[in-house]
Amino acid sequence: MENHVYQSPAIPNWSALLIEAVTKPGLIMKAYSAFHSYSVGNQILGLVQCQMRGLQPGPINTFPKWKDLGRFVKRGERALTLCMPITCKRREDNSDEEHTFTSFVYKARWFTLSQTDGQELEPITIPEWDAERALAALNIERVPFDHTDGNIQGFAKQRQVAINPLAQLPFKTLLHELGHVILGHSTEVDFADSETTPRSLREVEAESVALLCCESLGLEGAEYCRGYVQNWLSRGTGSDSEMIPEKSAQKIFRAADQIIRAGRPEIAPVTA
Ligand SMILES: [Zn+2]
Repeated sequence: MENHVYQSPAIPNWSALLIEAVTKPGLIMKAYSAFHSYSVGNQILGLVQCQMRGLQPGPINTFPKWKDLGRFVKRGERALTLCMPITCKRREDNSDEEHTFTSFVYKARWFTLSQTDGQELEPITIPEWDAERALAALNIERVPFDHTDGNIQGFAKQRQVAINPLAQLPFKTLLHELGHVILGHSTEVDFADSETTPRSLREVEAESVALLCCESLGLEGAEYCRGYVQNWLSRGTGSDSEMIPEKSAQKIFRAADQIIRAGRPEIAPVTA
C-alpha cells in the first residue's frame, strides 16, 4: 500500500500539527471534546483552523448533514478543511495487475456549530473509553508483569503488553506500550521501558501516541509525555535539530486514533 498526499500549501502538515498539539497544553483535549467523532489528526486540524479564524470550536458537519439536523449554514461562512482517506485503484502499464492504494485528499466541506443557525442540537455525550475493550478490539493481550528489574514500568513484545503493578503512571505506560505495538515496533524488537525513556525515534513516536491518548481521554500522564516530546523537539537547531519526521507524525496520529476508537463502546464509522 502506498500513501499519496495532495496538500494545499495553506494546510499545515502533520508534523506541524503535532508540534502545535505538543506545545499547547489543553489543545488536544479541547479538540477531542469538540470533534471526537473525527480522526485525531482531523480534530487538531479542525481546532487550529477555528483558532485562526476566531470561531468557537464545536460539533462539525457538512452542509447537507446540518440540513438533516434542522440547521443551516450562515451566509458568507467559509468551510473548514479536513483530510479524507480515499481508496484508489491503479493499473500498471503493460500489466493486468491492479494495485490498491490509499490516498489522502483535503476537502473544504465542514462547518462548525457556530457557523450555523436553526434548531437546537441534542446534547452530545462523549463515549467512554475502556482499556480492556481497547485491548480486545486491537487484538493485544495483557500478560502478567514478570520482569525482575523494578525500574521497568512496562514492556511490549509482539502483540503482548505488560505493565508493572507499581508503575508510576500505569495508564500512560499502557498507552505507550500499546503505541509500540500499533506502530509495529514490537514485532521488530522487544521493548522494556524504564522510568526514563531513552532518546530514539521509536520512543518519541510511542510517547507522542501516549500524549495524544492521555490528553484526549483526560488520563494521568499527559504532562510527563509532553515534557519528553518537547525536550526532543528543543534539542539542536538547523540541520542538527531532531524534528519528528512527517511520516512519523502521520503514523503517530493514525495509531492514537486506532487506540482511542478501539476503547469506545461502538466503533463509529470513520467520518473523516
Ligand atoms: Zn518505549
